[in-house]
Amino acid sequence: MAAAGEPHGSLYDTIIVGAGIQGSFTAYHLAKRGKETLLLEQFPLPHSRGSSHGQSRIIRSAYPQEHYARMMAESYRLWERLEAEAGTQLYRQTGLLVLGPSADPEFQSCCRTLAQHRVPGQLFTSESLCRCFPGIRPYCGEVAVLDHTAGVLYADRALRAVQDGFRRCGGALRDGEKVTGITPGVVVTVTTSGGVYRAKTLVITAGPWANKLLAPLGLQLPLQTLRINVCYWQEKVPGAYGVSAHFPCLLAIRANQASHHIYGLPSNEYPGLVKICYHSGSPADPEERDRLPEASALPDIQILCDFVSKYLPGLGPQPALVEHCMYTVRSGWAGAPEFPSPGWPTPMGTPGPHCLAGAKTRTQSALSHQLAPILFLGHSEPRNSHPGQAMSPWCPLTLPVLALYPSPTWGYFQTCGALSS
Ligand SMILES: Cc1cc2nc3c(=O)[nH]c(=O)nc-3n(C[C@H](O)[C@H](O)[C@H](O)COP(=O)(O)OP(=O)(O)OC[C@H]3O[C@@H](n4cnc5c(N)ncnc54)[C@H](O)[C@@H]3O)c2cc1C
Repeated sequence: MAAAGEPHGSLYDTIIVGAGIQGSFTAYHLAKRGKETLLLEQFPLPHSRGSSHGQSRIIRSAYPQEHYARMMAESYRLWERLEAEAGTQLYRQTGLLVLGPSADPEFQSCCRTLAQHRVPGQLFTSESLCRCFPGIRPYCGEVAVLDHTAGVLYADRALRAVQDGFRRCGGALRDGEKVTGITPGVVVTVTTSGGVYRAKTLVITAGPWANKLLAPLGLQLPLQTLRINVCYWQEKVPGAYGVSAHFPCLLAIRANQASHHIYGLPSNEYPGLVKICYHSGSPADPEERDRLPEASALPDIQILCDFVSKYLPGLGPQPALVEHCMYTVRSGWAGAPEFPSPGWPTPMGTPGPHCLAGAKTRTQSALSHQLAPILFLGHSEPRNSHPGQAMSPWCPLTLPVLALYPSPTWGYFQTCGALSS
């Protein structure tokens, strides 16, 4: 290690800030392609302060957006390859039921993307749904489509496998080192609580801390950070909603008139407990996530209690366990303009029209995707564009390229291709 204030000797190809799943996967793929890569994480690993902790995540092809569905075949291949390398199970196929009103445009889009990408699927009427899945009671006559290929990713295990793989490929991971300064230039200089490092390219995958990190650069992204209640519900008959009983993951669209999706995973991670969550939360600073929310906070737990008692009668009516996690979403959430809007990111202090809520250019359902903001600062021109990825022509300060990728989180990691050439 160099003396405090002195740059570390190596010039890295890439420094990545943030060892959540996005940063770790990006780092792993860069190192695998022989790039000198440094991954910096502010907290000692593992930690539960960001968005990537916890035992499980859903992976699915049943997206209303075609471009997400298109990424999934490669995503499954990448996870399968990593499973083989790590010698451990990271994915369990359970299927995912999308439950919704038959005429709902989002429900119909999910059916369409499954068919378009030849994903094995199955349609259920209310009656056939009750017959095949007696634990589910479609309360308002909803129908369902089953994405057979979907399932559960073992999140903590997957994150560890990615970070171990990164180290095996020669990557350097420094945890417990908070990035406190970024000096742009042909060579980017990164100052942390433990040292000073230089690289040709910087990738920022700081999740809910993205804007805190960017503020000194005069950059702010239109992001909102939300505190999410992760609720677990007790099975009345142990195992009835479990993976062994072939209970699938669940995504309920507009169930009981809820504004956001409600999603669920079969009992597995905690015996006898089923994870059912609301796809939104209350605005919160990631540093104060566990401070009690204000009285005006989203009544998500009440919405979930209502849903569970009506649709999943084999579960207890109140959550047995509540954990917390952060979402980072586009600011405005319901009603924000198309992502990204022309001209953003915006220099601080001059919020552009993109920050205004109310421009209904996207459906609420589309907005329910959590963003995993990734910024590239460097010379490489990201390649392999796809419609879900946005590149800003706007160049901050002296940095030659800035690009931001919205990403379906645990689904796919576009970044490796972008920087590896
Ligand atoms: C409850 C919940 C359920 C979810 N379910 C699903 C699901 O079923 N399917 C799905 O695909 N997605 C799901 N998601 C979304 C997905 O988990 C996230 O989008 C993803 O984990 C985001 O990863 P990230 O790496 O961008 O952010 P994070 O995991 O937050 O990582 C950012 C990292 O950057 C570090 N950092 C920040 N600032 C600094 C700094 N100054 N210096 C050094 N390090 C820094 C942080 O400490 C953190 O470790 C869910 C999320 C939550 C919260």
